[in-house]
Amino acid sequence: MTEGETLLALMEQDLAIARAVKALDELPEKAAILQLRHRLKEIEGVAEKARAYVQRANAMVAKSADEVQMVQAKIDAEQAKVLSGQITDSKELRNLTREIDALSRRKDQLEREELGLMEKAESGEAQRAKVDAALEEGRAKEADLIERYKSRGGEIQTETARLRAERDAIARMLDGSVLARYERLREAKKGVAVGALKGALCTACRTEIPAGEVQALRAGPEVAECPNCKRMLVIVGDA
Ligand SMILES: [Zn+2]
Repeated sequence: MTEGETLLALMEQDLAIARAVKALDELPEKAAILQLRHRLKEIEGVAEKARAYVQRANAMVAKSADEVQMVQAKIDAEQAKVLSGQITDSKELRNLTREIDALSRRKDQLEREELGLMEKAESGEAQRAKVDAALEEGRAKEADLIERYKSRGGEIQTETARLRAERDAIARMLDGSVLARYERLREAKKGVAVGALKGALCTACRTEIPAGEVQALRAGPEVAECPNCKRMLVIVGDA
């Protein structure tokens, strides 16, 4: 291969690699994984809240049960006084009975509150279980997608590695300074460093070069520069 042909081959190879990298990037599984992960993060946030809610509700149930127990202890103590027979003053006894009634009402109210709190804790627990199930399902789906991405992506990566090895072999055929110029232009010109002169057209920028300049280019070296896009221009045999 001449230097110009090698440059054109190198460019073709780089374009093929870029296509493969793009194909890997655009695998639908990749977008699906990213989307799913975003969703999982949201569900994790909800799960976190559900767990905290259940914890709070259970703590409130426990506190309420303690309160019920405390009031019951007071009732027991007051009743014991009444039953001891030591209090004979009728006014004092009436007061004690009223106190016991009030405590009993307070206890009933606390027990109703406790039931309400228990219901809250239970519904919170059910919600938490639902969210956890959704999370588990989502994670299984994610694992499945990753498996599929790896399998499809693996094929593309194998192909890309083959293309890169070929590319390196082609690049080694070029003179160091030519290769450096190629790389600089590739960086600056969106991946396309080389054009070929076909008729009066630069194949890279698709611009028609004035006849006089074409003539000069054809009379010059095989690798020149496109007067329009400043890429390397390979003067190929005119067909
Ligand atoms: Zn050009």
